[in-house]
Amino acid sequence: MSEEKRDGSLVILSGPSGAGKSALTEYALRSLPGLKFSISYTTRAPRGGERDGVEYFFTDRAKFESLAAAGEFLEWAEVHGNYYGTSRSFIDGVLRQGDDAILDIDVQGARAVKASRPDAVAVFVMPPSFEALRERLLRRSLDDESVIARRLKIALNEIRSYENYDYLIINDDLKNAEREFVAIIIAAHCRMNLRRNAVVSIMEHFGGTADG
Ligand code: 5GP
Repeated sequence: MSEEKRDGSLVILSGPSGAGKSALTEYALRSLPGLKFSISYTTRAPRGGERDGVEYFFTDRAKFESLAAAGEFLEWAEVHGNYYGTSRSFIDGVLRQGDDAILDIDVQGARAVKASRPDAVAVFVMPPSFEALRERLLRRSLDDESVIARRLKIALNEIRSYENYDYLIINDDLKNAEREFVAIIIAAHCRMNLRRNAVVSIMEHFGGTADG
């Protein structure tokens, strides 16, 4: 198969906190070369082990607001009391190189990105049950109890948005969910509208054009 440069895709991944977005993202990044994680800006404090410029660009509200005013965000939203924003310059850099970007963003962000980039592939991941989600949040013990309670309360509202997405993963078995996520990203590359340039050059070998 030819290795010519193609346009990258945006892969949106949303789902309630604890549904498995980070595990799916890490698996996809390990499995698929040319896939990059979109590093968002946030005003939330780093959790244990998180590094600036790796999981997020950590910033304060004043800096975030000035970046927003300067148009640096493809979208931004207030989630769980903090600001989060997708960096337009980071995404554009990834796509220009022909790489794909995974955007781990909330349901508001997903709606905004789909509106401005309709080609983005939107994937929603949900837990198999409320109990499973509660257990996962308690087990990973990254947040204190009041934060967990708040996240669980918000989960139902987030899950209600599932119909705005192109694909749905129900994460009751992580291995299976990982396979499904990678399959979705691979299939996204095969969409006809992204293959146009490749078809043109193949048709030229046949002495024809893409139209006939
Ligand atoms: P966490 O604080 O657990 O890392 O993320 C909380 C929520 O913010 C998650 O639902 C995550 O998907 C969302 N989020 C992370 N980055 C962004 C972003 O740039 N934009 C939006 N809209 N949501 C984000």
